[in-house]
Amino acid sequence: MNDSLVRTRFAPSPTGLLHIGGARTALFAWLYAKTNSGSCLLRIEDTDKERSKQEFTDEIINSFNWMGVNFDEDVVYQSKNHDRHLSVAKELLKSGKAYVCDCSKERLDRLRKEQQEQGLNPKYDGKCRDLSLSESDNTVIRFKNPENGSVIFQDLIKGEIEFRNEEMDDFIIVRSDGAPTYNLCVVVDDLDMQISHVIRGDDHINNTPKQINVFKALKVESPTYGHVPMILGEDGKRMSKRHGAVGVSEYRDMGILPQAFMNYLARLGWSLGDQEIFTSDELVNNFSSGNLNTAPASFSLDKLTWYNKEYLNAMEFNDLVDLIPSEHIKNDQYSKNVIELIRDRCNSLNDFSTESQYFYNKPEVFREEDKNKAIKENTLNLLSSLSERLSDLAEWKSDSIQEEIKVFVEEQEIGFAKIGIPLRLSLTGSLNSPSIDKVCELLGKEEVIERIDFALKSF
Ligand code: GLU
Repeated sequence: MNDSLVRTRFAPSPTGLLHIGGARTALFAWLYAKTNSGSCLLRIEDTDKERSKQEFTDEIINSFNWMGVNFDEDVVYQSKNHDRHLSVAKELLKSGKAYVCDCSKERLDRLRKEQQEQGLNPKYDGKCRDLSLSESDNTVIRFKNPENGSVIFQDLIKGEIEFRNEEMDDFIIVRSDGAPTYNLCVVVDDLDMQISHVIRGDDHINNTPKQINVFKALKVESPTYGHVPMILGEDGKRMSKRHGAVGVSEYRDMGILPQAFMNYLARLGWSLGDQEIFTSDELVNNFSSGNLNTAPASFSLDKLTWYNKEYLNAMEFNDLVDLIPSEHIKNDQYSKNVIELIRDRCNSLNDFSTESQYFYNKPEVFREEDKNKAIKENTLNLLSSLSERLSDLAEWKSDSIQEEIKVFVEEQEIGFAKIGIPLRLSLTGSLNSPSIDKVCELLGKEEVIERIDFALKSF
């Protein structure tokens, strides 16, 4: 391998949906690789047989495909490397860097309790460290962590970090059931996948010195590490279901555009001057020139919606039409006109479906509270006269419709709202819509008259 080649990875455990935090970490790992003309690999850490599910792996992969984060090379499944993990554990045993421990659970529980009572951090006391025990049914393999000195590393994001060895444990690398543990598997896989930079969430920061020590014990160089701060909700608490959707696929299903999602995630914790909008290529080209924040980022749905709106506004009309997930919107001129008219009001792809309902379905029921707002004394008479005026209108264009309503309002000596609100309710079934003359033009004269007639009967 070329020494200067950047190889990063994202290593999710497939035990749930891909969360925003994980997606952002993966995005940074991917951008870091791409900005350095390197590769970013996906490793599925599926060693927990009970909690790992194929459906979550599929969901993780689909979410990245949707986001436009394309990993290089084949997906690595950690469970397939089981024998290799064990053989490295044996290698460490042979070279005296690990040892067999037969301490019972009772002894370890007692030890922990005593240490806690003395106000110490619980830690294995090294009873079996020099006993050279042989493996048997109830034994585990522990890593022989150095007793003195420190592990110092230069974190890509947080700068220099130091951990004292004496504060670290002789952690278990193979359990009594023969299962290799996380800190061993990760080191072996990162080594075998020739990972040069491990960019991951800072919830793993305490694992890093352990892993660096294992790399040292194997007499190989450890990767460079970068720990990405967490994403918090707007209340400053760790992002969770309470803050709304946390799964990437949930945002896709809400009608968020992948470009907007990627842009927002990148900006959560990374900046380049004041620029907000970055295409995927711009992110790749500029990632190394920007700044990564050391403080946690705070997620805002409003901000994501803002990005989404920016991307929706900038999108080519025909591309937009193809993306709208709606049963009623078709690729015909009427639907195109509808989309054009409601575009300003839509913040997500799904909004096009809800905002356009009344162009395809006549309003059938009116909410009492809307009727209370729209129907005042004389409203029905006014609506009925306007309907007659509109039905006599020679040219059915929004300008002439607007003019006709204006003249009507002047003649009747009423404010626009007096007729505008009931008219809007009659035609759309709600009190909010684009400009009513434009709605009239699109619906067509016959439909408008029919809807007013129906409303007059229902009001
Ligand atoms: N599988 C671990 C997790 O999902 C990540 C391991 C790593 O990045 O080193 O938290």
